[in-house]
Amino acid sequence: MRALKILPRPAAVACVLALVSACAPAETPSAHRPGAASSASSPSTSTGPKPTPQGPPGEQPRAGEVRPVERAGGLPPVISSIPTRRKVVFLTIDDGWEQDPGFVEQVRDRRIPITAFAMRDAVEAKGTPDPAGGPGKYVGAGKWGYFRQLRNAGVAIENHTLTHPNLRLLSQDAQRREICGSSQVIRKELGTRPALFRPPFGNYNTDTLRAAKSCGIDAVLLWTATVQPGGKIAYQVPDKRLRPGDILLLHFRPNLARDFRVLVDKIERRGFELGNLQAYLAAMAVDR
Ligand SMILES: [Zn+2]
Repeated sequence: MRALKILPRPAAVACVLALVSACAPAETPSAHRPGAASSASSPSTSTGPKPTPQGPPGEQPRAGEVRPVERAGGLPPVISSIPTRRKVVFLTIDDGWEQDPGFVEQVRDRRIPITAFAMRDAVEAKGTPDPAGGPGKYVGAGKWGYFRQLRNAGVAIENHTLTHPNLRLLSQDAQRREICGSSQVIRKELGTRPALFRPPFGNYNTDTLRAAKSCGIDAVLLWTATVQPGGKIAYQVPDKRLRPGDILLLHFRPNLARDFRVLVDKIERRGFELGNLQAYLAAMAVDR
């Protein structure tokens, strides 16, 4: 069985250096305005259909498929892949600059398991949107209402800070304001409590883990490959292949629905299934 990646700091730094190039062009921390006020809209306004009665989307772990996660010092574990031999991968989407309505229908109608890491300033279209995305048609169009639709389509909405800073440059208190503040906004707008946190650019340190724990976060989620415009997978591993347990990172970009269709078809053609991340994490006892 493949070893679970609970990354010690040196490995994490190397990993981060490898990953920044994938995340950074679309996400410049200085482009976002720190400390901007949150939206005052109501969490009770639901614009999408009710969740499907068929249960959560995606493949569930089989008995004994994954083992409990190891953790250090009671801090949330840092997870960049799921330790399974089964041909199952996990889809995650970050930020929220672009709000393609076709994507919500696609996720709902095809029952695709998704975890979204929402970043407040992106969702609320504050600061400068994704420069790599071009003049997007849907930037900021729906604000939190779009994420309420995603939630109603079965998407888990998790924490990706308020302003997308490089957390390694911030004090523990400042990191806590970013992480706890994000959870509070999501709770207010969506009525759900984030259990997962993804640090911007994959940059974190021990203070991040302490801050995340104090904000009620159960695990810090990194990734193993990014998905570029057009649905092309940019691997972080030399052999350029999907592996069991991979966590893929996308961004809310223009033409997401089209790119997503290409990606999901590609994953299925390679014999992989889409897993329900929350069910796998529960099997790993990350919320112990
Ligand atoms: Zn991001």
